[in-house]
Amino acid sequence: MFDAIIVGAGFAGLYMLHRLRGMGLTARVYEAGGDVGGTWYWNRYPGARCDVESLAYSYSFSEELQQEWEWTDRYPTQPEILRYIGHVADRFDLRRDIRFERRVESARFDEAECLWQVRTDQGDQVRAPFCIMATGCLSVPLEPDLPGLADFTGGIYRTNLWPHEAVHFGGRRVGIFGTGSTGIQSIPVIADEAAQLTVFQRTANFSIPAMNAPLDPEFVREFKARYPEHRAHQRLGLSMGSGDLEVVARDRKPALSTAESAPQEEIDRVCKAYWSRGGAHFMTSIGDLMSNEASNRRVADFVRARIRAIVNDPATAEALCPTTHPIGTKRICVDTNYYDTYNRSNVHLIDLRKHPVKAIEPGGVRLADRFVELDDLVLATGFDAMTGALLRMDIRGLGGRRLKQAWREGPRTYLGLMVPDFPNLFTVTGPGSPSVLSNMVVSIEQNVNFIADILGHMREQGYRSIRAKPEAEAAWTAQVNRLANATLYPKGGSWYLGANVEGKPRVFMPYVGGVGAYRKACEAVAAENYRGFDFQRSPPALSSPSGTQGA
Ligand code: NAP
Repeated sequence: MFDAIIVGAGFAGLYMLHRLRGMGLTARVYEAGGDVGGTWYWNRYPGARCDVESLAYSYSFSEELQQEWEWTDRYPTQPEILRYIGHVADRFDLRRDIRFERRVESARFDEAECLWQVRTDQGDQVRAPFCIMATGCLSVPLEPDLPGLADFTGGIYRTNLWPHEAVHFGGRRVGIFGTGSTGIQSIPVIADEAAQLTVFQRTANFSIPAMNAPLDPEFVREFKARYPEHRAHQRLGLSMGSGDLEVVARDRKPALSTAESAPQEEIDRVCKAYWSRGGAHFMTSIGDLMSNEASNRRVADFVRARIRAIVNDPATAEALCPTTHPIGTKRICVDTNYYDTYNRSNVHLIDLRKHPVKAIEPGGVRLADRFVELDDLVLATGFDAMTGALLRMDIRGLGGRRLKQAWREGPRTYLGLMVPDFPNLFTVTGPGSPSVLSNMVVSIEQNVNFIADILGHMREQGYRSIRAKPEAEAAWTAQVNRLANATLYPKGGSWYLGANVEGKPRVFMPYVGGVGAYRKACEAVAAENYRGFDFQRSPPALSSPSGTQGA
């Protein structure tokens, strides 16, 4: 028996394991992948790169680690992140407690024993007082609704289940579905190699140039010298990781409070400055960008003007101009040469709103008005986000209550961390926490530390079970919804809202208040004796600080 079972060996699971070990607790980690890395293990598609900057998208818990690790570019590639996570696993000797290629299928709470019983698809069965879900927000691939897909005789490549061996598109006619962050990253890279690339676009998205470049060693040296200050900024949500501290300090305030009434030259000046600096930081340029539709429209107009300026063919440019949602309400994309790629003679855009798919046939895609012959199909069609990984397990809490039942009208949590009828079960970066609206590593570290502190508190006080109180869950969920409804986010029809999955309840899932406000809310909860949580003294006990070795 262990003190805790952790599900997932991505950034969250690894750090959770490290923290628990540091407290003298025992843990077993189950991971469906063949190695550590989580989302970065699976998403190895061409062009995969994080859109948070390297120096920020990394753990802060070890000063030695953050000083030692050398990042290559402003934005890290998927292979580089995977190497980094592998290095962390080795450096802190984490692998010995991880069992790979084991997908957790069920987790059931045994009330009499106050234990979670976890079962994997390989037949492992293990029990522990605590179960910590570190299952990621974007880890369940979504199968697109494309009739006849199974009949296609060429290669089918899903970006989020990309093969480990090299895929070669040289000389081939490739089609891609999906123009979200993933598609937008992979399209320019595939276009470089394929004979022909046809992009089947259902919804045009806003994308900002990454302005990626190799990191300047002098910049890195200065950044690392002031790492603690950078990390402090990140934890308060003041920095997305870009630039030096002076830039961060200047950008604490948006350049313009609103674009609604600003002169056009002023909007152009500000947006151009942010555009040329590059990255998702663009979204912080205007104070009310995510709350004022008129202001948002003027910034969206700026981006549409950029697209028209970059793309030579006016009809293609028009099709690439997003019109279905306010900018930022679907996750902003960050690209390298995305719009320029449509100026290549081997790249063709098909607007599915004008030319819907009738069926996928063995040799290509049948549209209402034409047939596109293809050798390979790439599916960059997204995820069942935030709740998908949790709900595909059979999780049962008090009285055998299923999580699926508790969340039938959408996820409800206290702080994104717990659900009332599921004692001793934690969700790292769960729905109701900043998660996907933040630098995930920053949020993961905060959530993991909060959970570890709770376990420490329980051990000190002799508590054996913790539950979120229903009234605390109700109040937090209402606050999450109220905050979201004061913004434009719910207008996006995005995966944040579950809108990409048929039949999924339309509930805005992440907490939009920012990591700083969220952190303060957690600190206030802890300071008031973990307000909103109910602790009980019932068996079994946590092991002593020296630790008992698990089976
Ligand atoms: P996504 O944003 O959900 O995009 C999925 C795309 O597939 C959309 O364009 C969608 O069109 C299209 N699609 C789905 N079903 C379709 C169908 N049947 N026919 C035609 N098109 C279809 O998924 P994603 O691009 O994988 O990104 C998900 C999230 O992962 C991102 O928002 C981001 O948070 C994260 N991510 C981050 C990075 C990074 O750090 N750089 C990279 C990749 C992903 P509709 O919009 O019309 O539904």
